[in-house]
Amino acid sequence: MLKVRGLTKKYGDTEVLRGLDLTVRRGECFGLLGPNGAGKTTTLRLLLGLIEPDSGSIELAGFSVPKHAREARMKVGVVPQMDNLDPDFSVRENLFAYGRYFGMEKSAIAARVPHLLEFAGLAHKADAKITQLSGGMKRRLTLARALVHDPDILFLDEPTTGLDPQARHLIWQGLRQLIADGKTIVLTTHFMDEAERLTDRLAILDHGCLVAEGAPRALIESHIEPVVVEVFGEGLADWTRNHAASLCQRFETVGETLFCYNSNADTVIEALKHAPTLRYLHRPSSLEDVFLKLTGRDLRD
Ligand code: ADP
Repeated sequence: MLKVRGLTKKYGDTEVLRGLDLTVRRGECFGLLGPNGAGKTTTLRLLLGLIEPDSGSIELAGFSVPKHAREARMKVGVVPQMDNLDPDFSVRENLFAYGRYFGMEKSAIAARVPHLLEFAGLAHKADAKITQLSGGMKRRLTLARALVHDPDILFLDEPTTGLDPQARHLIWQGLRQLIADGKTIVLTTHFMDEAERLTDRLAILDHGCLVAEGAPRALIESHIEPVVVEVFGEGLADWTRNHAASLCQRFETVGETLFCYNSNADTVIEALKHAPTLRYLHRPSSLEDVFLKLTGRDLRD
């Protein structure tokens, strides 16, 4: 559904993408992850043919981009990072306006609207103004709107940023339904749990290059020891100096927390019983540990 080879893009002297290769199969949910400034939004804009690459090739839904970007875009539904619904129109009118933008007949849009409203859980809000919707409702409408022309593939740029947990779960439910219906999804996210939950495969991008690619579970297994004990509290520096090297397979201190990575946490936890001023959190390793190991813990902006 998507094949990208050797994609490069510069802004002035800044190399934003440095030879990106991506393959997304039909029916797959693919995650594009990376710290701020890694090049995710630039990649999405290139895929849609909104900007031109310096070199490399893009094939999207069978069309070469940017040459046949218009045809490719007919096959793509886009959910941008910022909701850009028209505030002068009602919920239903927003769906119609978007369908007309894709050159659809009014009757064809009308045939799809009830299903889209149902999908978004907004049937009861069909005639409401956009200003009357909650953040979660607006996001669901933006997602439904992206489906008006029945695209094969969806691009979602941080689909749940700014939403509360309930609203996030509703979006996830909608996305899972789309995947079950056979749609292909490409999403960017800063939420590692979201990526772990939804994606079949993901790529981690940093400084315009891929630093890892694979299924979430496989990435965790290949990059990180199975369990982490996060240790914090008074006396951490001394404890780290005296014990970390012997008790942890690998460790990192970040701010006031020691991350102790191991295949088994028993020995560490046993040792911590003798350090009453320290507290700890014991958990399985996650995609976040992979992400931080590969992209570093420095703040990017
Ligand atoms: P991400 O979406 O991963 O946060 P972006 O693709 O938005 O990253 O940005 C990647 C880099 O490209 C950043 O350093 C950003 O400042 C730069 N950049 C993005 N768009 C432009 C532009 N139109 N002009 C100049 N620099 C840009």
